[in-house]
Amino acid sequence: MTAIESLLLQGRSDCPKCHRTFSQSYSMYRHYRYECGDAPPRYQCPYCAYCSKWTHSIYNHVRKKHQGCEVKLNKRY
Ligand SMILES: [Zn+2]
Ligand SMILES: [Zn+2]
Repeated sequence: MTAIESLLLQGRSDCPKCHRTFSQSYSMYRHYRYECGDAPPRYQCPYCAYCSKWTHSIYNHVRKKHQGCEVKLNKRY
């Protein structure tokens, strides 16, 4: 079991890396896994190499840079 899994089992919802507190432990896990610190960007623009950790950044990017294209994103993992 990893350290993060044992925190989840204890019902903890504060990130062990940056100590942000979340209302749900799964929100903390998602944050820890995909957003916190130097986690690689999870989402990518389907039309170019632009990547971001946040879906709204990709959507904004596609609306601005790829006007007329369907607003969507690729998950990198
Ligand atoms: Zn964090
Ligand atoms: Zn793009």
